Amino acid sequence: MSARKHVVVVGAGYAGMQAANRLLSRHTDIDVTVVNPRPVFVERVRLHQVAAGTGSATHDLVDLLHPRAALRVASVVRVGEDVVELDDGAAVRFDAAVYAAGSGPGVPEVPGGDRAYSVSDLDSATALHDALTSLRDGSAVTVVGAGATGTEVASELAESHPQLTVTLVGDAGAGLPDRTRRYLHRTLTSLGVRLRTGTVTGITDDAVLFDDGTTAASDATVWAGGFAVPDLARLSGLDVDEAGRLLVDTALRVPGRRRLVGVGDAVRVDAHDHIRMSCQAAMPLGRHGADTVAALLHDREPAPLSLRFVALCLSLGRRHGAVQVVRADDTPRDLVVTGRAGALGKEMVVRSTVWDIRRTGRKRAARTAESSSPTKEFDAAGER
Ligand SMILES: Cc1cc2nc3c(=O)[nH]c(=O)nc-3n(C[C@H](O)[C@H](O)[C@H](O)COP(=O)(O)OP(=O)(O)OC[C@H]3O[C@@H](n4cnc5c(N)ncnc54)[C@H](O)[C@@H]3O)c2cc1C
Repeated sequence: MSARKHVVVVGAGYAGMQAANRLLSRHTDIDVTVVNPRPVFVERVRLHQVAAGTGSATHDLVDLLHPRAALRVASVVRVGEDVVELDDGAAVRFDAAVYAAGSGPGVPEVPGGDRAYSVSDLDSATALHDALTSLRDGSAVTVVGAGATGTEVASELAESHPQLTVTLVGDAGAGLPDRTRRYLHRTLTSLGVRLRTGTVTGITDDAVLFDDGTTAASDATVWAGGFAVPDLARLSGLDVDEAGRLLVDTALRVPGRRRLVGVGDAVRVDAHDHIRMSCQAAMPLGRHGADTVAALLHDREPAPLSLRFVALCLSLGRRHGAVQVVRADDTPRDLVVTGRAGALGKEMVVRSTVWDIRRTGRKRAARTAESSSPTKEFDAAGER
């Protein structure tokens, strides 16, 4: 490759940051512009802490991005053949692009679902935090959905707000080994979380309605029924699955688009039936996406993705946690670390994600004859 190439990364989450920093740290002949709606990296895995007031989740992007990266604070509204269009009317051309738009709150499809709070994005978690501060002692909070996120939110809220009555709806630990499940139930209960099952059929300002006709008081209801992806891929005319995830092949290429690659929560990878929406998957997907982009720009055949899961890590408040070891295909092994050791293990994993992004961003690519000065494209706008 003789001429310099320009890559646009859409979204500065775990996957997009890994992709941008890896490209810049390995290839001096590639420039990267990262487009993100805000100038901060949101550590989504800490958003239950933002809601509970036990932690923060934002880092300035300029501190985490490779120094040669250009940052454009905007939202992409369309991904074209060789250009992304932004919500401020601008357009940024590219030789290759990485689609890393991530995920956010799923909209509860029940009457009153728009009244529910969420911890899936920063604004929603902050809104929940504000709502909790105005609740009177003894108020009821219901968390709907007892998957990993719901379990973490319920325990974090119960530990930090003992004056509130927190109920978790669902079967915490479903699909995990009995020992892990029993530990989760025991710990949730010890934190004061009430456990109940049932299907929620409606949400009002002060109650949750169940399919058996019962009603439970709920002054704030948190929906933790799964993540949803942005509709950017669909609006751009790209092929998506029924959930709106961009379809990519095993090398993370978008079929029919020569130099578009998709990574992270927002994509569905061909022949990989199960990729858990997680930073555990998003980070290696981001790195692999970077390598595919580099291969395409250098006229090489990209390698297929090889992804191995390691663990499911759950925080249960600040003092308890579980690190459930899983096989490469994400099925649980009969091995779990619980208690304070589990909490510490989870915290170390969470910290390591930001360390890893920062470490990659600090690496300088070996200088070559075609090495350049930092990308200045958006300096004038004062964004970098
Ligand atoms: C409370 C909570 C706890 C979690 N705990 C864990 C855990 O313990 N372990 C784990 O592995 N995972 C966990 N997750 C899941 C994990 O956070 C996500 O799977 C991960 O963030 C996905 O990374 P991503 O880079 O694909 O997307 P994201 O992190 O969602 O980043 C996407 C980025 O794209 C940006 N974007 C979106 N649309 C546009 C657009 N149109 N233009 C430009 N930019 C755009 C977004 O603003 C965002 O910055 C947790 C999630 C939550 C909410």
